[in-house]
Amino acid sequence: MADRSKHAFIEQALAQRKQDNQFRELSPVHPTEKHAVVKQDGRELINFCSNDYLGLSGHSLLKERSRSYIQQYEAGSTASRLVCGSLTIHHQVEEKIASFLYRESALLFNSGFQANSTLIATLTDRHSLVLADKKCHNSLLQGALLSRATFKRFRHNDVDHLQRLLEQAADQDYNRILIVTETVFSMDGDRTAVARIAELSDKFKALLFVDDAHAVGVWGERGRGLAANIPNVDILLGTCGKAFGTFGAYVACSRKMKEYLINFCPGFIYTTALPPSVVGALDAAVSLIPQLDDRRQALHRKIEFLRHELIELGFNTGNSTTQIIPVIIGDEKETLALSKWLMEHEILASAIRPPTVAPKRSRIRLTLTAGHTQTHLTKLLQVLKSWKNA
Ligand SMILES: *Cc1c(COP(=O)(O)O)cnc(C)c1O
Repeated sequence: MADRSKHAFIEQALAQRKQDNQFRELSPVHPTEKHAVVKQDGRELINFCSNDYLGLSGHSLLKERSRSYIQQYEAGSTASRLVCGSLTIHHQVEEKIASFLYRESALLFNSGFQANSTLIATLTDRHSLVLADKKCHNSLLQGALLSRATFKRFRHNDVDHLQRLLEQAADQDYNRILIVTETVFSMDGDRTAVARIAELSDKFKALLFVDDAHAVGVWGERGRGLAANIPNVDILLGTCGKAFGTFGAYVACSRKMKEYLINFCPGFIYTTALPPSVVGALDAAVSLIPQLDDRRQALHRKIEFLRHELIELGFNTGNSTTQIIPVIIGDEKETLALSKWLMEHEILASAIRPPTVAPKRSRIRLTLTAGHTQTHLTKLLQVLKSWKNA
């Protein structure tokens, strides 16, 4: 071995990141009394990065039920679900989620990342084929890599390409095919033709896994998301850290699928059950979400307004039609400069760079939530306009 420090690779990788303008750092933020406003380094910033789409993280009912569950069930669940961590409250919330999403059952997971990175390998083996959208979330990519299945990606939102891959696969002797996609894509805010993909999955007898993380709560009738009414979605995954305002994830599925996952999914089996505080907040969120049509409509109006104004100013928002609105800049340095400019003007918006997005597709990713006021949006637009003119 060369005479080098065993940490040399770390230094080198970090230096490379810095050189490429891709270095990432953490900076603490504090919530404030005001909706969609956070404090960082003592300054108040309008927050355009949060996934708390309905503003539920600060809702009194979530906080109350969280406290009440701690009082009744303690601060920890003490074990995995299959050992002695399966509390009645886990079962209750699973039933509520199942009925909300028109499924026979639902199963909680500790996070979307944990679920996605372990479900694909649970559903496939080395004789299977996984077909995933090119822009699927990293957690799904990790999951596909962990499985020993043949892994192919279809072009983003290109159902015809998916169909060609399915036709090619028909002559091969895969034991199983799993199609993986999202409803709303997390970096582009565009939507998928889930119904068409569901038809294909039916025609080719493929399993269908749909990640609804950014749609549930925000889109669909009563906030059910964009796939609840499509019965042949076999795995309907949602995360509870976004519109639900808390933490965790679920799979809504058939009773048999749930039994299978309880028996075979390592990401469910080998981990401590969600703590009562989280289950309390989640239980409250599941009860509230169907009642929030007014909040959803107001949010939808803000989305239309902001996207329209951004385009008027000459910004490229890609194919976004949702609360996730990318302002695509391209160059990494320029994107960082804009992010800094926004920060100097009391606006918090994240710069998204490779490897999260493709090279030369760097962007400021804006997310809109129920907490944003017209004043917030006007201020954002003014600051963006001044950057354009500077
Ligand atoms: C956020 C997200 C996840 C991860 O969920 P967590 O509960 O935050 O781990 C998975 N998939 C998609 C599409 C996401 O946006």
